[in-house]
Amino acid sequence: MNAKGGARGSATRMPVLFIGHGSPMNAIEENGFRRGWSELGRTLPRPKGVLCISAHWETRGVFVTSSDRPETIHDFYGFPRELFAVRYPAPGDPALARAVAETVTQASIGLDGERGLDHGAWSVLCAIFPRAEIPVVQLSLDTARPASFHFALAEELAPLRDQGVLLLGSGNMVHNLGMIDFHRPDGYDWAVRFNDELKRRIRSGDHAALADEAALGPDGRRAVPTPEHYLPLLYAVALKDDGDDLTLFNDAMTMGSISMTSILIRPKGEGAKRT
Ligand code: ZN
Repeated sequence: MNAKGGARGSATRMPVLFIGHGSPMNAIEENGFRRGWSELGRTLPRPKGVLCISAHWETRGVFVTSSDRPETIHDFYGFPRELFAVRYPAPGDPALARAVAETVTQASIGLDGERGLDHGAWSVLCAIFPRAEIPVVQLSLDTARPASFHFALAEELAPLRDQGVLLLGSGNMVHNLGMIDFHRPDGYDWAVRFNDELKRRIRSGDHAALADEAALGPDGRRAVPTPEHYLPLLYAVALKDDGDDLTLFNDAMTMGSISMTSILIRPKGEGAKRT
C-alpha cells in the first residue's frame, strides 16, 4: 500500500460505512450531522486506506482513482467561497487501486490517474479523519448497470476489510433534489415512509429487495428518482456478514426530501473500541 502503510496482509478487520452526506455545507457547518461524523472518527480503528464509493462519480464502465496525490474537486456551484477553499489533501494509494482492480471480476476496472476526490468523499472525510493522512481511493459508479450488478460487485470487495481497508459508501437513502424545501427541518411523509422501509430491509437483511429496482414501490420512485445516491448504500450492506453488528446514526430527514440516515457495520464486540 502506501509507503507508511506497510505490507498488505493481516490487519484489523475494518468496519464498513454508509454515510448520508446531504449538502456540501456539512463540510464546514457546525451541525449535528457533522458532529456525528466527528464522533464516529474518534471510535473507528485506524484504517490503512479508505475506499470510497461516492454518488458523485458516475461513469460508463467502472474506474478507480490511482493518483498518489488526488486533488480536491469542488463539484458543485452556488455555495460560499469558504466551501470552495476547502482542501482535503489525503494521499492516494495506487497499490490499493490496483488491488481493487485485481479483486473485482464483475467488471473490468480501469485505473484513472487524473481523477481527484469529489465532495461525496471529502465533505465527510474532513470530519471523520480531519488530519487527512489516511490514503483515499475512489471507485466509480457505472449507473447504467442495475442495482444487482452493484451489489454483486460490492460483495467482491469483502476481502479488503481484512486488509485494513475501510469501505465508505457516500450517498443518501432518500434524495430528491427537485422536491427540496430548504426551510424544512424534517421529511415529507412519503420520504419518511420510504426511509423507514429501507431501515426495515437493512435491519432484517432483506438484501434481495434492496438490490431490486422493482421493489422500490411508489414512495421509493419519488425517493430515488435517479440511482446515484442510492447505490452507495448497497456497497455497505452487501458487506455485512453474521459476525457484524449494524447500527444507525445521523438517523434523520432534512429539507423534506433528503435522508441523512447512516450505517455503521462493524465486527461484534468492537462497539467501544477507540484508537
Ligand atoms: Zn450528493
